[in-house]
Amino acid sequence: MSSNFTPASVLDALRSVVPTGSAPLHEPHFQGNEWAYVKECLDTGWVSSVGKFVDRFEHDIAEFTGARYAIAVVNGTAALHICLKLAGVESGDEVVMQSLTFVATANAVSYCDAVPHFVDVEENSLGIDPEALSEHLGNISEFRGDACYNRLTGRRIRALLPMHTFGHPSNLDALLEVAKRFHLEFIEDAAESLGSYYRDRHTGNFGRLAAFSFNGNKIITTGGGGAIVTNDEVLAKLAKHITTTAKLPHRWRFDHDMVGFNYRMPNINAALGCAQIEQLPEFLAAKRQLFAHYREAFSGIEGIRVFGEQEDCRSNYWLQTLLLDNEHASMHSSLLEASNNNGLMTRPAWTPLHRLRPYAECPRMELPVTSSLEKRIINIPSSPQLVAISR
Ligand SMILES: *Cc1c(COP(=O)(O)O)cnc(C)c1O
Repeated sequence: MSSNFTPASVLDALRSVVPTGSAPLHEPHFQGNEWAYVKECLDTGWVSSVGKFVDRFEHDIAEFTGARYAIAVVNGTAALHICLKLAGVESGDEVVMQSLTFVATANAVSYCDAVPHFVDVEENSLGIDPEALSEHLGNISEFRGDACYNRLTGRRIRALLPMHTFGHPSNLDALLEVAKRFHLEFIEDAAESLGSYYRDRHTGNFGRLAAFSFNGNKIITTGGGGAIVTNDEVLAKLAKHITTTAKLPHRWRFDHDMVGFNYRMPNINAALGCAQIEQLPEFLAAKRQLFAHYREAFSGIEGIRVFGEQEDCRSNYWLQTLLLDNEHASMHSSLLEASNNNGLMTRPAWTPLHRLRPYAECPRMELPVTSSLEKRIINIPSSPQLVAISR
């Protein structure tokens, strides 16, 4: 049985999953060892730049993602900044990314004095469309020696920076292939995809470096925090060094051998992270179950669907996503209005970055799918505690 698509029927479907009260988009859940570990920091005085929880959290992230090395930093944006820098992104380079992403992806590129180059996404992964990318680069680029240049701007195109939208892995194999063909460095903005796998391999393991975020709204949180992951030992050592003021080890001397950053994650934040990552398997199971509930609730409504993982991928389902059909895109604002008025926090996708003031002049291809998705995506309450978490 299918019912008419109205704000009321959509609200009923949401209410069948979240029956009472108000629900934020994504709330952290602290039911594990958070108090114990944070208390230990306070009791011992190890709250800041040194302490055992940082090492332990780095170990935990590496173990969970299957990456050989993880370096904990102050936030995901800082992690991305250092990933780009260590991948060789330099002043005046262009970095290819989707326009449909959080502003931090582009900001990190700007911190390298480089320029975002926006490309379109595909509807089945919400990530960069490999075919459109390949065609676009074929049209606008040329090789000078080994290096790929944008013929229109004269700038070097240095890197491809895919992002895993709402936790759903991008089409990584195809994107890697394009990056290889055009000699681009491959860096993942994996800020949203802790717990997401592409062909049984955890996201963040496909390029030279990747960035994760543990901001308050992400699948696990350290308050604020991020991590750089890599399988390259030299890059891992450099990442640790440059994010900790580039100080040479010595018992008392202050000797720094390059311009470093104070990007290290404080121990008290890492303590929170250690407690959170212990619960990550339960959070992932809860989010998968929440997706199943939403899918069931919306199965009877024509013209709207709950976005699901692709074949070959296992998504962390970080942010649950409704996707309206084209014919119903005009209902976008009335649905946002009705749900938010009713205590159910829903949000549209980000304003595509090519329309933001600081990025309006950046190079880009035609972005029809980005523009279409912008009018059809609605994120809905996604906290893991919306279903019973078994512990
Ligand atoms: C959250 C996020 C970041 C940045 O992480 P912060 O920890 O907030 O700095 C970067 N990229 C994407 C896609 C994100 O969602």
